[in-house]
Amino acid sequence: MGNPKAFLTIHRQEAGYRPVHERIDDFSEVEQTLNSSDRRTQASRCMDCGVPFCHWACPLGNKQPEWQDLLYKGRWREAFHVLEQTCDFPEFTGRICPALCEKSCVLKLSCDEPVTIRENEASIVEAAFREGYIQPVRPIRNGKRVAVIGSGPAGLTAANQLNRRGYEVTVFEKYELPGGLLRFGIPNFKLGKNIIDRRIRLMEQEGIVFKVNTMVGNEVSAKEIASTFDAVCIAIGSEVPRDLPIEGRNLKGVHFALELLSQQNRILEGIVIPPKDIINCKGKKILIIGGGDTGSDCVGTANRHKAANVTQIEIMPQPPVGHNPTTPWPLYPQVLKTSSSHEEGCIRRWNLASVRFIGEKNTLKGVEVEEVEWLPAKNGGRPEMWKTGRTEIIEADLVFLAMGFIHPEQEGLIKELSIAVDTRGNIAVDPGTNRIADTNIFASGDAVSGASLVVRAMASGRKAAAAIDKYLHPHKS
Ligand SMILES: Cc1cc2nc3c(=O)[nH]c(=O)nc-3n(C[C@H](O)[C@H](O)[C@H](O)COP(=O)(O)OP(=O)(O)OC[C@H]3O[C@@H](n4cnc5c(N)ncnc54)[C@H](O)[C@@H]3O)c2cc1C
Ligand code: SF4
Repeated sequence: MGNPKAFLTIHRQEAGYRPVHERIDDFSEVEQTLNSSDRRTQASRCMDCGVPFCHWACPLGNKQPEWQDLLYKGRWREAFHVLEQTCDFPEFTGRICPALCEKSCVLKLSCDEPVTIRENEASIVEAAFREGYIQPVRPIRNGKRVAVIGSGPAGLTAANQLNRRGYEVTVFEKYELPGGLLRFGIPNFKLGKNIIDRRIRLMEQEGIVFKVNTMVGNEVSAKEIASTFDAVCIAIGSEVPRDLPIEGRNLKGVHFALELLSQQNRILEGIVIPPKDIINCKGKKILIIGGGDTGSDCVGTANRHKAANVTQIEIMPQPPVGHNPTTPWPLYPQVLKTSSSHEEGCIRRWNLASVRFIGEKNTLKGVEVEEVEWLPAKNGGRPEMWKTGRTEIIEADLVFLAMGFIHPEQEGLIKELSIAVDTRGNIAVDPGTNRIADTNIFASGDAVSGASLVVRAMASGRKAAAAIDKYLHPHKS
């Protein structure tokens, strides 16, 4: 620990976002960066606690105090080497991780100014790319071949880990480009796609083969893959969105959130969308149903389209501001989050259930909503919803359903391989190894856990890769 008293005198300094009036006109990343000197000053605030709760909170087990200290001392290369031991793609987590670590930082508890761990992580990896510390490495091959199905963060991490252990890895991806939700879900203003391209190029140079436009269980037989490769890692995500089957659901103008988000990302990639399929929010009244992060991403996208107005509604109550006694430190706090997209302009409302979509001539005009209240459950379980009978109509030309995802697609490869699913419809695996019982098939990411976070998908990919290595080389120490 370089400067034992820095946390007493130096305040947390975030790089912040580009000004709203500037960023709202483009889809480039909204977050800025600090200069190297300020970044090192921020790293000096890490207290190297006896029990580093940041390390405990990070699903990857990142060694934050170690790399903060090296960063503070200006030893960027070493900081990167410590970071890359546990995190395959810090350029992703450094940008879009909700920074579970920072919520558990002791400085969060003591003065509500945690170390800027996530931003420091991004700075270290960007310096590593810039300075040329990251160079392709072609490992010595061990003669075994592994197929990875799905190229989201779970699949990419599994592929990276296995490749570095000497396996010949082929990644199958049904879409036209690799990246999963990093590519066709998360908006460019949170994660620029050049960042994914840079990593994919490196992985290709290191020997990983990407087969895009290849849907396993459809264009390619899953059984054939399982029999021709020594092992398989399924990382197909949790793609089935939660629907809202109320009156008027089929009206023109009601879409799932990802229809908007993935289309926008495709347009920015230069992929041509047939004009009749284009969803454009320009001049329209937009209603987003679902108060979470996917909904927030729709807010940012709709505002960049120059929507007339944007409203986001949520059936649950508004979370407390700042502190929530039900999720005390060091737990992740369930509190009100205001994203960069919310700052750009949006009406946010809570305690509203959607009753029916209203339309004219098959076209959406609005949504009838009803105010609800939540009563504490008598037996201490989930709160009970009580309908107040107070209804209103919110005018809307376009509605985006952002109510989460329920499970992976059950047809296709899950059916072809007769893979068992758990009660929620996720792929059932041995929890210790992520292996599907008595097979050479493993699974990872949202397909196993249900929709979650990039950092958790990456941790799951690492776990599956380690288990595959052990399965194919049981005597390796
Ligand atoms: C709009 C949105 C915004 C988000 N923002 C954040 C954020 O800011 N921070 C964060 O931490 N998390 C965020 N998440 C969650 C995060 O993106 C996911 O938890 C994570 O991407 C899951 O990784 P995965 O690899 O398991 O699955 P995915 O990323 O879903 O990747 C699965 C891949 O498998 C492919 N596939 C599926 N079936 C087949 C098949 N049969 N054959 C071949 N390929 C197939 C899919 O095309 C896809 O590319 C967001 C999610 C959404 C929807
Ligand atoms: S991956 Fe997320 S939780 Fe882990 S150190 Fe980075 S920002 Fe923190």
